[in-house]
Amino acid sequence: MSSSPVSVGALGAPRIGPRRELKVALENYWSGKISQDELLKIAADLRAAGWERQRAAGVSIIPSNDFSFYDQVLDTAVTVGAIPAAYGWTGGPVSLDTYFALARGTQGQQTTCAAGHVHTDPAAGEGLPALEMTKWFDTNYHYLVPEFTRDQKFELASTKVVDEFSEAKALGYHTRPVLVGPVTFLKLGKSRDEGFDPVSLLPGLLPVYAEILRRLAALGADWVQIDEPVLALDIDDATRTALTSAFEFFARAVPGIKIQLTSYFNAYGDNLATALELPVAGLHLDLARAPEELDTVLAKAPAGLVLSLGVIDGRNVWRANLPVILDRIEPVAAKRGTDHLIISTSSSLLHVPYDLAHETGLDDELKSWLAFATQKLEELVILGRALSQGRDSVKDELAASAAAAASRKASARIHNPQVAARLAAVKPEDSNRQHPFSERSKAQHEALNLPLFPTTTIGSFPQTSEVRKARAAHTRGELDDAGYEAFLRKETENAVHWQEEIGLDVLVHGEFERNDMVQYFGELLDGYAFTRNGWVQSYGSRCVRPPIIFGDVSRPRPMSVEWAAYAQSLTSRPMKGMLTGPVTMLQWSFVRDDLPRATVTRQIALALRDEVTDLEAAGIRVIQIDEPAIREGLPLRKADWPAYLEWAVDSFRLSASGVRDETQIHTHMCYSEFNDIIDAIGALDADVISIETSRSKMELLDAFVDYHYPNEIGPGVYDIHSPRVPSTDEMEELLVKARERLTPAQIWVNPDCGLKTRKWEEVRPALVNLVKAAKLLREHA
Ligand code: GLN
Ligand code: ZN
Repeated sequence: MSSSPVSVGALGAPRIGPRRELKVALENYWSGKISQDELLKIAADLRAAGWERQRAAGVSIIPSNDFSFYDQVLDTAVTVGAIPAAYGWTGGPVSLDTYFALARGTQGQQTTCAAGHVHTDPAAGEGLPALEMTKWFDTNYHYLVPEFTRDQKFELASTKVVDEFSEAKALGYHTRPVLVGPVTFLKLGKSRDEGFDPVSLLPGLLPVYAEILRRLAALGADWVQIDEPVLALDIDDATRTALTSAFEFFARAVPGIKIQLTSYFNAYGDNLATALELPVAGLHLDLARAPEELDTVLAKAPAGLVLSLGVIDGRNVWRANLPVILDRIEPVAAKRGTDHLIISTSSSLLHVPYDLAHETGLDDELKSWLAFATQKLEELVILGRALSQGRDSVKDELAASAAAAASRKASARIHNPQVAARLAAVKPEDSNRQHPFSERSKAQHEALNLPLFPTTTIGSFPQTSEVRKARAAHTRGELDDAGYEAFLRKETENAVHWQEEIGLDVLVHGEFERNDMVQYFGELLDGYAFTRNGWVQSYGSRCVRPPIIFGDVSRPRPMSVEWAAYAQSLTSRPMKGMLTGPVTMLQWSFVRDDLPRATVTRQIALALRDEVTDLEAAGIRVIQIDEPAIREGLPLRKADWPAYLEWAVDSFRLSASGVRDETQIHTHMCYSEFNDIIDAIGALDADVISIETSRSKMELLDAFVDYHYPNEIGPGVYDIHSPRVPSTDEMEELLVKARERLTPAQIWVNPDCGLKTRKWEEVRPALVNLVKAAKLLREHA
């Protein structure tokens, strides 16, 4: 068999650099260590190397404009001149410094909390604030939220798209430029003025896009990839109509260029008819997330439409089983013709690390099951060859792929019969505490004997440079176990004594031994692996290294009990045991793709359940199970929420319910917006939940009030995203607001989130004030 070659290529490549070169360059530029020219040169070299890597891998479609100094949505805003007036831009090319001001504020007002959530502080400092940042669909990548005014004008303010096409062309690469589509761009933005839908700005925006397309066509571009992932969401008719007008406009205005309409992270679902009616030359399908949609599309797609089959998972790190994929796509090629097919990744490869070859710490067996961006390009090329020249032309590669899949499937490292048996034996009542909250709370109050408005913190204390240095020295082997342990004990002891001294009621040990709330536990659990260089961009120059859950998860031995027991031995006040919840442990990892996420989460829940009961047995009477990621795990489509929330809630309950009534279970979630998931929050049945409320001036509590939330709540009164020390008065005022909404017996007094990102100089006075505020409230109660 031999037919015309199939086009293959990814929707986008990682851009931070195989060794995070862009991160380093950005940070050096921001701190004045390198010049703008040096930064531009490093960026150009990285782009060139990225294109070369793809050509060397043998793909035929190479994207351009997938590079960004910070974020592709910000790039789009700058390209079309959607820059809020405050930034002082008055037309013409946008300077790099204006770009970075939009991204980071002029005084670096962007901060992360202990859970890695990003906040920009509009009130901080004198300078300009950054644009708001939020998560890109259901990924852990953050984009900058464009801001529009009612009379927003658009103009071509940056020629980045065109320039990068020319730059590649000059180097001999004929690329396919990628653009964030106009409707997605508007949909993701927010309006500064009340009462209008940014999508209504479309007519003014389309000519700018058309101008870019025209310039690209003039330079010889034949295809462009326009990403409209709003098609993966629940959208209204106005948005569908906007999509239709946008692509009809392009077809009329720039008939010479072929558009591949691209959506990802989900099925098209009820947006499929719209997508299929648009006058575009190609349509991309995310067949990792929505394999079932292929048949529907095959039945309905016009014969001339080029289908881009996203068969290689762009969101995960698993090696594909190529013969199985071929079984699925060979008939498509036969039916539609290889010239009407593109073999691609399900999404951009931005969401996976660069290259498995950089992993020196993973064993060969595990590595044989994995594929990072470079390996995924190779997989695309093998698939393309198999389709164009027959499977025999890549016999060895296909055999290796199948063998790796078979080895993974059969491996005893992945399948732990005890874990499976235990999960199978779980009974519904295992997810229930012994008695309802009304009874438990009595037992807890007797056991703990806390004052009204008890005070506590969320867990971590400042991770000072000494703490980080000691950890790094220990990792490098320069500080031995005993030395490191002694150091951590001293830090813990100081923290415990200080908390006693200032009069906090429920103490914490401070989490000094933890590098990260997920990594710390992952490293102690079986079934998790960690990379050395598996960085993926979280936002701007910030990268994370998600752990890889490759096998059944179990707990070989207690993980936090020694630290908690040690800390409890230093005080007679209750010491809170501190754990990361099952959904968060899942959500911030690459998860195995051979089991439902619900099953993996339940495995983690059972491991945590043992930890919870061991903490109880060690004399810990208060245990907090953090779940800051429950909300971000929500599926993109509302119809999928109930199923997710059911297993998410059940997993939390499973982890928490092994204890006696008098053991108090806390949970913590640092985000806003509880309204649409308040039923699920209630169903967690945590005895106490601490939340982030200080910025919203307690308005977030309304969701709990309307729900008649019966359990106890610690509404945050200290905004930990800011170095500012809140006064006693301020915190008391917030508590008074809380008391207007809740019964006094329900209220706890605590900060918004963990304190690891703050300095002791800020934390000390702030917590002293917090304790005072609680005392004042008690006096007035
Ligand atoms: N216990 C964690 C800490 O304080 C909680 C972090 C979080 O969930 N936001 O660091
Ligand atoms: Zn937080």
